[in-house]
Amino acid sequence: MSQTGTRIRRGDVVRIMAGKDVGKEGKVLRAIAPDPSPKKKRPSRVVVEGLNIMIKHVRPKAQQNVTPAAQQQQSGRVEMEAPIYTSKVMLICPNCGQPTRVGIGSSATGERFRACKKCDKQID
Ligand SMILES: [Zn+2]
Repeated sequence: MSQTGTRIRRGDVVRIMAGKDVGKEGKVLRAIAPDPSPKKKRPSRVVVEGLNIMIKHVRPKAQQNVTPAAQQQQSGRVEMEAPIYTSKVMLICPNCGQPTRVGIGSSATGERFRACKKCDKQID
């Protein structure tokens, strides 16, 4: 198993450790797998609800194959959450409530699970 895999999943609560929203917490809406291709190598990222908001300017003409009504609705400035690298967030452990790194533990049956580095409890 890769050490750099996505250890943060949809539904997790994370704290932002860098950038303009540092210290804020939010729920993970989407986890984006890392892109390992050499040309555009990217670590895994997450989209966090209400955080790392960026304003996207949408031009109606750039939209194709949509109805005029939908076009009207989608034009202008749209606020949306931008993905954050997982290296900039820490998982809030549901057991001890602290921001923590995630380790991988395994049970007696060989099943792997995520574990809190602080309290050693299973996270899932
Ligand atoms: Zn914990």
